[in-house]
Amino acid sequence: MKIEIDKYAGFCFGVTKAIKTAESLSKDNQPIFCLGQIVHNAKEEDRLKKLGMKTIDHSQIKELGSKKMLIRAHGEPPETYKIAKNQNVELIDATCPVVLNLQKKIKEKHLENSKNQIVIFGKKGHAEVNGLVGQTNGKAIVISSINEADKIDISQPVFLFSQTTSNFADYCKIETYLKEKSISIYGNIDNITVFQTICPSVKNRIPRLTEFCKKHDLIIFVSDPKSSNGSMLFKVCSDSNNQSFFVTASDDLKKDWFFGKHSVGISGATSTPLWLMEEIRDSIQNNFT
Ligand code: SF4
Repeated sequence: MKIEIDKYAGFCFGVTKAIKTAESLSKDNQPIFCLGQIVHNAKEEDRLKKLGMKTIDHSQIKELGSKKMLIRAHGEPPETYKIAKNQNVELIDATCPVVLNLQKKIKEKHLENSKNQIVIFGKKGHAEVNGLVGQTNGKAIVISSINEADKIDISQPVFLFSQTTSNFADYCKIETYLKEKSISIYGNIDNITVFQTICPSVKNRIPRLTEFCKKHDLIIFVSDPKSSNGSMLFKVCSDSNNQSFFVTASDDLKKDWFFGKHSVGISGATSTPLWLMEEIRDSIQNNFT
């Protein structure tokens, strides 16, 4: 049986950068405190814990004193920087440059005119989305589906952005809906401005993953169930290959999935470490071929 790991699967450069930062800080033999899960993958978090990294939440910033605190790739709202500064916490900022750029654009549009409505298509409560909403003093409207697009007041200027890991096709549907509604009411789209802010490393993954899934009899998709990017990409797998299975570790593999299969593709989310996909490949090789 042929087994192939998807060469485009695994950490994006933003997550790679944050993890490398954590690894290099761990060499100082001092505890590193990461604000929130560095990556939505419990297995990778466990590995970094062994190197001395501790995950904390916002309520614990005040207890850090002058220790080092890492900001992960998702970024943070301005309020977090203020709190850390007031507490003399040493910040190590590993916010992904793509996210930083998006935060900057949102802030610019928010400050440009008080009538501007900032709309963000993303997952409510997600760390990146909280960081984006923070650029508008909490005023941005977050929508998670096209059903919520109806509540946007298109009589005022609308600036539509998306979370970097959102689904591109769904984002296009929201854009089309708002523009068509505006044309039907006002005969123009003057109030609707749409920014293409889905990360290229996520956007390109979808067509590549679709191709990869069609090439194999069976797809094993490796991700943490808490990863929103993982859920979105697993849907892409299931839509293009009905023999797609979601696993978090090799213990989840089932013997009957492999009966009569000649080729197996292993893929994963932008938060899935390569070592975990390799562990799964080895387990398939050792137990199911
Ligand atoms: S998905 Fe893109 S924007 Fe998000 S952390 Fe990775 S590289 Fe950065």
